[in-house]
Amino acid sequence: MSRTVYVNGEFVAEENAKVSIFDRGYLFADGVYEVTAIIDGKMIDFDYHMERLSRSLRQIALDIPVTIDELRTIHHELMARNNLSNGMIYMHITRGVADRNFTYPENARSTLIAFTQQANLVNPPHAETGVKVATIPDIRWARRDIKSIALLPQAMGKQAAYEKGAYEGWMVEDGLVTEGTSSTAYIVKGAVITTRPLSNSILAGVTRRTLLTLAQETNITIEQRPFTVKEALAADEAFITSASTLVLPVVEIDSHKIGTGRPGPVTRKMRETYIKTAREG
Ligand code: PLP
Repeated sequence: MSRTVYVNGEFVAEENAKVSIFDRGYLFADGVYEVTAIIDGKMIDFDYHMERLSRSLRQIALDIPVTIDELRTIHHELMARNNLSNGMIYMHITRGVADRNFTYPENARSTLIAFTQQANLVNPPHAETGVKVATIPDIRWARRDIKSIALLPQAMGKQAAYEKGAYEGWMVEDGLVTEGTSSTAYIVKGAVITTRPLSNSILAGVTRRTLLTLAQETNITIEQRPFTVKEALAADEAFITSASTLVLPVVEIDSHKIGTGRPGPVTRKMRETYIKTAREG
């Protein structure tokens, strides 16, 4: 069934949605994006997504074409028009349509598009079994804190991981794990969760932000420091977070079993707590 999508102020059937080939998103990947999880018809962590979107836009000197309240309405409208109860809403803003020049156009109107994608976020089969991860080199740029639509390195990395039979690739730089191609990376040793601190080297995950708060409230210690692949292989548990996976156990890294090779208690607890809070919030 055809979805209704949003393009520059209009809700249209997906087959009628059009963006110019001169759009700078298409020619330069000159834009930023957000993906918000939808659980039981509720938008999860929406305010945090909008906060990060505003920051990404500021970093690339792009004005937001609508208010945050209008963005919220667009999201609600997309959910209603597409009967979306569980899944995601993807949205992006680009610098708009102009003749192909590297410098920013003076009078271009930014492009805003958004669409829904159905997914079973709460009960996918791999949440029970856990997933495999393959390590890959981090070949990205120096501003990974900006949620840029330039995702070729991540697509290449995810494909390389997939070809090794893994669900996600953990990108590695100087022996240290930066993050997943589309997720934040964590390891667990004893009762301590370790994840990399925020910097320009990683994206500030919205799910990470909520997870850290929940861990504190649950009296689970979080250590924010970079960790090595060697440490990850020796961990009791590992997991990833993102809007589309929530909290997902990692049971194998580079064909080495992590802990028992089954989702561990800390990861399970964090997944349960995250989903419970999302549903209640
Ligand atoms: N890191 C990268 C590189 C990502 O692409 C994503 C999500 O797409 C994340 C982390 C997780 O971010 P969030 O929890 O906001 O979905």
